[in-house]
Amino acid sequence: MSYMGSLSGKTALVFGVASETSIAWAISQELAKNGAKIWLGYQFRYHSRIKDIAPQLPNLAGYERCDVSKEEELEAFFKKLQSPIDILVHAIAFAPATAFEGPVLQTSEADFSQALTVSSHSLPKMVKYAAPLMSKGGSVITLTYLGGQRVCANYKVMGVAKAALEAYVRELAHELGPQKIRVNAISAGPIKTLAASGIPNFDLILDYHKSVAPLRDNVTQEDVARCAAFLASDESRMITGQTIFVDGGYSIVGVPALS
Ligand code: NAP
Repeated sequence: MSYMGSLSGKTALVFGVASETSIAWAISQELAKNGAKIWLGYQFRYHSRIKDIAPQLPNLAGYERCDVSKEEELEAFFKKLQSPIDILVHAIAFAPATAFEGPVLQTSEADFSQALTVSSHSLPKMVKYAAPLMSKGGSVITLTYLGGQRVCANYKVMGVAKAALEAYVRELAHELGPQKIRVNAISAGPIKTLAASGIPNFDLILDYHKSVAPLRDNVTQEDVARCAAFLASDESRMITGQTIFVDGGYSIVGVPALS
């Protein structure tokens, strides 16, 4: 099914574009293709290509820097935005490299705190500023991973952060439902991006995923983007508080095929 044009007249604010491989970049393109006007929020930590690629986006309304872990930056960002929005995409995660080194038992409080501040608590913080701009209702979409529900090798404290993020999705959906603001998460299968390159042995995870997923393939950014466009559109008007898997069915498998 195509949602072509179903987002015309809507404005989306997308956080998390750092390069052409970012899931948020594919989502921005898909939302724009379906007619939405796009604002981008970016951090530019080290290797961001935002300034090269953002101008290529059709329907770009503007792009502004914002570190979502800093309250004063969020406040300034939304003050500058001054635009009604219909769609908010939160495609942000970060944990320091040390969080992936030792066993989870040795995760420092500083690493735990940074991982959850950036990857989980940033969702309600952003929604606090975005909700007043969604006077006609809206759709909030975040990105999660199976590590929030099951143990996934090498994901460590990020699994804890994604569990918190998914709980926030339900809490926010419950609180904001009366204002017709929907909140959902897409749980994507592994995709090679800048963030994923911080996870040790990511190539082995990709190979394993492909061999076990019922659809015997890896997920692409575009697969996730099409689901995001659906969640952003009124076609999904009664879906809220959900974590929807776009993973080729990987998450349903208990014991994989043994031969
Ligand atoms: P990505 O391209 O590296 O995107 C991660 C983004 O987070 C970057 O744009 C980064 O900005 C931004 N970010 C980090 N800290 C920030 C902060 N304090 N303030 C504002 N922005 C910040 O990687 P991605 O894989 O597309 O990740 C997007 C989302 O998908 C994440 O939530 C990730 O956990 C989730 N996800 C990814 C996979 C996968 O396998 N790739 C699977 C499931 C879910 P800068 O780089 O500009 O600092």
